[in-house]
Amino acid sequence: MSFEKLGLSEALLKAISKKGYTTPSPIQEQAIPAILEGKDVLASAQTGTGKTAGFTLPLLQRLSDKANRKFRPIRGLILTPTRELAAQVFTNVKEYSEFLDLRSAVIYGGVNQNPQVNAINRGVDILVATPGRLLDLHNQNLVSLKHVRILVLDEADRMLDMGFLRDIERIMKVMPERRQGLMFSATFSKPIKKLANGILNQPVQVEVTPENTTVESISQKIYRVAKTKKTGLIIKLISEGNWTQVLVFTRTKHGANRLCEKLGKNRIKSAAIHGNKSQGARTKALAGFKDGSISVLVATDIAARGLDIPLLPHVINFELPNVAEDYVHRIGRTGRAGASGEAISLVSADETAYLKDIEKLIGIKFPINIVEGFEPDPNASTEPIKQGQNRNQNSQPKKAKKKPSNGNFNNRNKTNNSGAGNRKRKRIRTK
Ligand code: AMP
Repeated sequence: MSFEKLGLSEALLKAISKKGYTTPSPIQEQAIPAILEGKDVLASAQTGTGKTAGFTLPLLQRLSDKANRKFRPIRGLILTPTRELAAQVFTNVKEYSEFLDLRSAVIYGGVNQNPQVNAINRGVDILVATPGRLLDLHNQNLVSLKHVRILVLDEADRMLDMGFLRDIERIMKVMPERRQGLMFSATFSKPIKKLANGILNQPVQVEVTPENTTVESISQKIYRVAKTKKTGLIIKLISEGNWTQVLVFTRTKHGANRLCEKLGKNRIKSAAIHGNKSQGARTKALAGFKDGSISVLVATDIAARGLDIPLLPHVINFELPNVAEDYVHRIGRTGRAGASGEAISLVSADETAYLKDIEKLIGIKFPINIVEGFEPDPNASTEPIKQGQNRNQNSQPKKAKKKPSNGNFNNRNKTNNSGAGNRKRKRIRTK
């Protein structure tokens, strides 16, 4: 299958070729023709599948077919849950529309609204937005959605997890009823289906079959360690392994800050990325991580969502997540694009129940590794940490444990626990 056969215009093919893509990803193969036909689409897809091009390319084509050069109302609206994802999607929109006469802008919270308003006032065909800032500007009468023809909800499941349902409903009310709707979500849970029913019209359901996936290996390893010795162990692993690009997950914002300080004292260049950081600081941290000036990025779960960090060799769970599915999302940050990756978890006694949940979810029983000098504390309680301390940065309610889904659509859905006993392998979703 080639991009030409999908029915994309010359201008788009030129931009695709400039990006260096040669063949459409499975999600693109299925979504692009349906969207070009004007159909609503409900797709299971996550970061790493090529979903952004999957909706952006046909959206651009449809909007450029009927471009109005004099009056440029917003005709394409892409909603994303996080600022980072909005910025990433916007970059893609700009790249893919390079050879088209279409204008785009991005808006999100945490930064001054004036440059965003100025951009909108200059006239934009496509707006990428997070729901909160969009509503905020709409309430101030600074943006109109009356001419939206195509609406994309990207990472819809995350939007619901982050409590954006009411915002989304409000946004729907200020848009024309007749429009094309595209929804992308990693899971097809009941609330997602309900949301889809409310905003999509007889959608084509797009799911990539397992045959289309490429096996990728993520080696998973567990170290049992005393809580007080985790910092020492992580410093040892990073320094002795000479690791230069490591994504570390902590459960709390404070934990992320504390760990960063300690890494700094040990001459390991690190930065924290979480909800208390300004957008500028988050962007800078991510840029530093990508260009190699920072070797360790310490993140909380929500902050890490939607980040596109290619070819990440190491992910470390400094603390296990209290929601087993988040483990799958976290480790999905490694071993991207066909490269192999390593996911390491430091597990103290109070995380025993979380570890069991994870093992149950992914169908793996991990062998225990212990590093000399960093042994677990035999007297420590296996009682899980108290609820209040487990909350992640947006204080969102604890998610109910979900069953793993067998729907499968990309090359990161399989894990190979080569670092662990290879008991049973289940396909799992990563984010
Ligand atoms: P996404 O799932 O949209 O976040 O995309 C993940 C990564 O895959 C991004 O870095 C894209 O630039 C890249 N990508 C998207 N489509 C293709 C394709 N057809 N071939 C190669 N890379 C692609």
